Parts: sequence; C-alpha cells; structure tokens
Amino acid sequence: MTIAHHPDEEALAAFAAGTLDEPRSVVVAAHVALCPHCRAIVAACEQVGGALVEQAAPATPRAGALDEALARLDEAAPPSMVVREAAPDCPAVLAPYEVGRWRWIGPGVHWRKVEVPESEGTRVFMLKAAPGSSLPHHGHSGVEWTCVLQGAFSHDLGRYGPGDFDAADNTVDHTPFVEEGNTCICLVAMQGDLELRGWLGKLMQPFVRL
Ligand SMILES: [Zn+2]
Repeated sequence: MTIAHHPDEEALAAFAAGTLDEPRSVVVAAHVALCPHCRAIVAACEQVGGALVEQAAPATPRAGALDEALARLDEAAPPSMVVREAAPDCPAVLAPYEVGRWRWIGPGVHWRKVEVPESEGTRVFMLKAAPGSSLPHHGHSGVEWTCVLQGAFSHDLGRYGPGDFDAADNTVDHTPFVEEGNTCICLVAMQGDLELRGWLGKLMQPFVRL
C-alpha cells in the first residue's frame, strides 16, 4: 500500500493528545492504523506529551491516589468503549460503534451511518461507490475528512487510494470520480451538510440527511 496523502501534523498532534473531537479522531485512527509514517509521528507526540505530564506530576503521589484514579476511570468508561469485534466489512477502529445498514443514495452509491457521538455538527459515515461511478458534484458547509479503506477515487487535487487521507473544507467544491476495478469504500467525518449540485445532486439531497 502506497499512501500519498496524510493528515497534517497539527491534526496528528491533536489526535495524539486526545484533543481532537471523536468523529474526526475515528477517521484519523483509521488512517494511522494503515500508515506507519503517521503512526511514528503519533508515537513521538505521545512521548513528548508523556514527558510533559511526568514533569508536571508531583514527585510523590499521595497514598491511595492511584486507586482513586483507577476507580474514577472505571466509573467514567462510557458504554461505547466496550471492546467487541468490528463488523466484517468495517475497519477495526469502528469496533466500539454501531454501524447502520447500507442505504442507496444514488446510482452506484451507498452510505451507512456510524454511531459516533456527534461533535460540533460533525458526523461519521461510510460511503461505498461502484467502480467507474462518480460521486455527486458537491461542496461542504464545513470540513470533511475522509480515509479511503478500499478502491480509489480521484478529484482535482489528486488520486486517493487505500489508506489515503483527504481533508476538504468549505472552499472545496468537487466531483470525486471512482476508479475502475474496485468498489471504493471510505470512512468520512463531515461537519455540516453536504451541498449537492446539479440535477442528480438535487435528486439525491433528501437521502443524505444523516
Ligand atoms: Zn499517514
């Protein structure tokens, strides 16, 4: 797998520090799982973060402090963190989440919802597009982060194959085209609404309210 497109370092640092919102973290995690280059950056960020925490920590923790902290962790663990297997056609990073069934949204194109808690209007879904199909011409009202899981698509800014990460914001207005050969499946975190253009887009718009 040759990965050509990565999240920027700011995104990787926020991911490592745990300050990135959950929807976008899931998409970055899917990329990091496939990309040794970014795994190394995240590991380096975590080391720096760990060193800073150590420096800030008091030299001798109060007796019982560790037990108390562990007890709090137990209480705080959300039900979504229960470890289980990911659905057969989902990446392992989706194991903690419910995934909806595939729904048709247009010729050759299906989507399904991933039940990651919404954060600041950002939602997660998977998109599946048949070989040779074109995704509807669209713009965004917010950011859209995508990790390609299989197959490949191209748009004005390049070709995106398995593992590639694509970050588009509201200045991007494009028509991704899916390569022949393989069905393309992507994991997407999208903020705001997809704004579909053209007659096909108008037809599909009612279906993509997530
Ligand atoms: Zn990478």
